[in-house]
Amino acid sequence: MGPPRPPTPLGTLSAASACRQAVGGPRSYQTAALTAALREDIKAAASKKQTGVSMKHLLDFGTQPLERQMLLSSRFLHAEIPIRLAHRLMDLNHLPPELSEEPHVRRVKGWYAESFADFRSFPPIKDNVDVIKFTAMLKNAFRRHNNVVPAIAKGVEVYKRGLKERRESTEERESEIQHFLDTFFLSRIAIRFLAGHHISMFDPPRASHIGLVHTACSPYQVASDAVAEARAICFREYGNAPQVTMLGNSDLTMAYVPSHLHHMVFELVKNSLRAVQDRYSDSDAEPPAIQVVVAEGLEDVTIKVSDMGGGIPRSGLHRIWTYLYTTAKSPLPDVDIDTSNMPAVLAGYGCGLPLSRLYARYFGGDLQIISMEGYGTDAYLHLARLGNDEEPLTESIRTP
Ligand code: ADP
Ligand code: MG
Repeated sequence: MGPPRPPTPLGTLSAASACRQAVGGPRSYQTAALTAALREDIKAAASKKQTGVSMKHLLDFGTQPLERQMLLSSRFLHAEIPIRLAHRLMDLNHLPPELSEEPHVRRVKGWYAESFADFRSFPPIKDNVDVIKFTAMLKNAFRRHNNVVPAIAKGVEVYKRGLKERRESTEERESEIQHFLDTFFLSRIAIRFLAGHHISMFDPPRASHIGLVHTACSPYQVASDAVAEARAICFREYGNAPQVTMLGNSDLTMAYVPSHLHHMVFELVKNSLRAVQDRYSDSDAEPPAIQVVVAEGLEDVTIKVSDMGGGIPRSGLHRIWTYLYTTAKSPLPDVDIDTSNMPAVLAGYGCGLPLSRLYARYFGGDLQIISMEGYGTDAYLHLARLGNDEEPLTESIRTP
């Protein structure tokens, strides 16, 4: 047994039932006063500034004795994560009511509020025992949020359909929602990175790893793996997959998070495979190979994915950055947010490009798409060599 918990603004209220009330979910036996306390607490936390972390800080920090790292990291996340969750909850509450109250979005609000309450009711972290308990709570919260992306995507899809049915103008709404989603998903990437980084410090030590950061990550190797995985999905859906040639220095290494890099290259290569495959589906000619080039600069490592899949018309180019925009059939109606994550498909969620760009920007990089209609598409993925830049916090990201 740990020390008795000090009183918190939530008292002994069960976190889950308090949040169901705070977001307007099913009523439980808890008193309305406690719900109001949670609401007030969320509001107060949302008025606090979020604190960014630089990669350099994380890497330097990773050289300290492990026990001290875990204690300081737990204390930081204990204070910081609820602030970030509260900011997102306020954003969710300020969406147009038809979206904010859409059932999938309400579920998401419930998850955020539950996690917020979990953090707030956790006592100050004093020693190693607290660290272990805190990390277990963090892991549980991490899992709770697994299906946030499909849930929000479904909510937005229902909302957009409603706008169309009511024949409301969508243009202004779309840009508002685009900004909200960029902010929301960037913040999610950040929270999950910080939480995942902390949790991974409990794993057995791995050579050249500090938490989730691989200090000698090979972009060429990660890209090759992502290419193989994307081609396997293409094979599964089309019974065939265009060739992909890799160019560049396979010995080059840099500090990066391999899972993020894998995600981005995987999405770009899937897009290219689909474009080439569709363009050549009725042709006897061999589909032209896709090229992946890894270029080593002083400031950036850039990965270019080039295809001859016919490109994207210039008039439609800005739409590729909007969420849910896809020219493939959407698998979303078949996704059940209770039982599954998003099943891997070649295309159709319409989140591949906008989310990849957020992953790139989170570490100070960027993603650009250049198209030659009638010929093909080049995607440039810039990875900043990890440095002093602080995490971009939500307010600073705007889609041009
Ligand atoms: P999805 O792949 O699920 O449709 P993305 O965000 O990855 O979503 O891409 C959005 C859309 O952009 C695609 O549906 C497609 O119309 C277009 N697109 C993306 N990459 C390419 C490419 N390399 N060639 C042609 N069109 C592309
Ligand atoms: Mg895609």
